[in-house]
Amino acid sequence: MANRRPLLAGNWKMHKTIQEARDFAVGFQEKVQDVTDLDMVICAPFTALSVLKEELEESIIHIGAQNMYYQPKGAFTGEISPLMLLDLACTYVIIGHSERREYFKEDDELIARKVKAALDMSLTPILCVGENLALREGGKALGFVRGQVEKDLMELTPSELQKVVIAYEPIWAIGTGKTASARDAQEMCSAIRSTLAGIAGSVAQEIRILYGGSVKSGNIAELMVQPDIDGALVGGASLEVEEFAQLIQNAR
Ligand code: PEP
Repeated sequence: MANRRPLLAGNWKMHKTIQEARDFAVGFQEKVQDVTDLDMVICAPFTALSVLKEELEESIIHIGAQNMYYQPKGAFTGEISPLMLLDLACTYVIIGHSERREYFKEDDELIARKVKAALDMSLTPILCVGENLALREGGKALGFVRGQVEKDLMELTPSELQKVVIAYEPIWAIGTGKTASARDAQEMCSAIRSTLAGIAGSVAQEIRILYGGSVKSGNIAELMVQPDIDGALVGGASLEVEEFAQLIQNAR
């Protein structure tokens, strides 16, 4: 099996003022300075990226955004471009989070363009996929998620695909306190990897797949031992220094 480096990503969503972001960065950095065996990234609101750049650019903690547009510049009022994210020292960007798909009507065509644009600018996209409760209960989750992966990544070359991170996030588990069982999460992540193998052959073994959905310090260990789970995308539990630092330690 390929040697995939684990990744723990925090998604702050629409939380934290600039001062709160600075306080977090200072405190968190202190707690995880010995963590060299996995990658850590904090995906912050656009308004907090500049302060994270000040505090974290020279640290082992990566900086990420939660969204971007696919054009480098132009008349796209209210949007942020990959170039602007590079300016803010971002190395990661979340694409296609289920909240963007649901509330902002992002479809697979738009998401595929964003993934490609991120790669073109050397940003690592964290592509989110996942089914809702009705699909899960109707036994259609596997087919639906495989379809998302294919539609969002089909145009990429194997060497581009290798740089993508995929986050499997069942929508019914996000922010609800309900986590998929480690077995169900593994089953889906394995199905995602076999879908990737269909697109890019053996490169699929090198692509990092994360699980997301109510991950906390108390349940990260059982997820991390699954063979196809290479880390987690963490919402609520990434907002507090103590909890996120503990989660990182428990993931090791
Ligand atoms: C998320 O924001 O992607 C997420 C998984 O949130 P939570 O961990 O709060 O469920």
